[in-house]
Amino acid sequence: MSLCKRRGFVFPSSEIYGGFGAIYDYGHYGTLLKNNIRDAWWKHMVQYREDVVALDSAIFMHPTTWKASGHVDSFDDPQVDCRKCKARMRADHLLEEFGVNADKQTIEFLNTELDKLRVEKKLKCVVCGSSDLTEAKQFSLMVKSNLGSPTDALSEENVVYLRPETCGGIYLEYKNTVDSTRMKLPFGIAQVGKAFRNEIVARQFIFRTREFEQMEMQYFLHPDEMKTKYEEWKKTRWQWYLDYGMSENDIRWYKHEKLAHYASEAYDVEYNFRSLGGFKEIEGIHARGDWDLSQHSKFSGVDLTYFDEKTKERFIPHIMETSVGLGRLFLMFIDKAYTEELIGDETRTVLKFDYRLAPVKIAIFPLLKNKPELVAKAKEIYNQLKLKWQCEFDDNGNVGKRYRRQDEIGTPFCVTIDFDTIEKDNTVTVRDRDTMQQERVTVDGLLDFFGKKL
Ligand code: ATP
Repeated sequence: MSLCKRRGFVFPSSEIYGGFGAIYDYGHYGTLLKNNIRDAWWKHMVQYREDVVALDSAIFMHPTTWKASGHVDSFDDPQVDCRKCKARMRADHLLEEFGVNADKQTIEFLNTELDKLRVEKKLKCVVCGSSDLTEAKQFSLMVKSNLGSPTDALSEENVVYLRPETCGGIYLEYKNTVDSTRMKLPFGIAQVGKAFRNEIVARQFIFRTREFEQMEMQYFLHPDEMKTKYEEWKKTRWQWYLDYGMSENDIRWYKHEKLAHYASEAYDVEYNFRSLGGFKEIEGIHARGDWDLSQHSKFSGVDLTYFDEKTKERFIPHIMETSVGLGRLFLMFIDKAYTEELIGDETRTVLKFDYRLAPVKIAIFPLLKNKPELVAKAKEIYNQLKLKWQCEFDDNGNVGKRYRRQDEIGTPFCVTIDFDTIEKDNTVTVRDRDTMQQERVTVDGLLDFFGKKL
């Protein structure tokens, strides 16, 4: 967290006003890294595939959307309050600390289990340690707004919601997408966008925030294809993590035992966070049946059935989804990349990102700041390379300090322009982030050299 702030990856939002709970801003390097992660997902989910198309739907949607989906009535988490320090906790998380499987359980079940811990004097506030905790009650995660309303009052009739997940927009644009793209089942719609949840507790940096970005893909199919397509997508998503630097030991599957009534299968990908002390959910892959389109068809009165020209069959498509938080992936990649190495008696901190994710690919330095001919040559090289890759020009401090700085933001290569460059052989030093090896490369060969490396 300290490195993220110091090096301009992530800042607490509204810090000059004392911060704003569970909301974060992404600085220069954070924005670049986040964009690269999003692009890596997008390429594999849309660009490289013929069966997935894109969507960018609005955050605000007709309020009936969330009645149809069940969110208004039951998108809740169970909340427990500390009467002493006023801290808020999630009852299911408190119970899970004691090995009770509390996922998606009823409030009655949770209170019975909490009472058992009370009797054993084990139930304590996670912040102040007091045992004076309230009963669990349901707390809606939906964030409300009066957008477009003629009055300030948020009554039942005029309330609109900020979307709690991006897939709602995908269901509502399913018909327009089929009509406009002529996609045939099975096919998917993918989108990246903001979602908002009034999370009860959000103490784990950007792991759980109240405003966050989701990257979701909804795959529409005939129910007979669910089993095979579900397995295919599980494999595809698993391979994506391996391709971007995770090992088989870093991630694992978590199978949901308790499913929503419409779901037939649900697995999460979990990553073993060093920074958060163990495996935590990164992505959900869920088989959702025909619940979503049936509900929206029922509430809107619009026919959302699909007609299969070949089999002459008409049916409501079933859906499976892959859903991942961009901020969570960001934290996962930083957690994995963060490395401390002892070099002599100094510790080197380096972020060993996959090159494709690294915020800056090449840093360019003149050996000395006060030699105009070195600075001019370095600028010339920088101006050429920046047209192809995100580059950075740096002439502050000495070269050793500049290397340390680039290591901390994960830049794969540093180029130093010295007197040999301009007086002798038109070569520069290229230094590798991971091996710290240096080699001489001709200036004319740099585009080709980095083209191959990156
Ligand atoms: P959790 O159990 O952690 O609350 P969830 O099971 O409710 O998550 P989903 O609704 O399945 O999560 O959302 C899919 C993905 O969206 C999650 O795997 C996660 O990566 C991301 N996500 C969900 N809520 C948040 C949040 N508050 N902050 C950041 N990312 C989130």
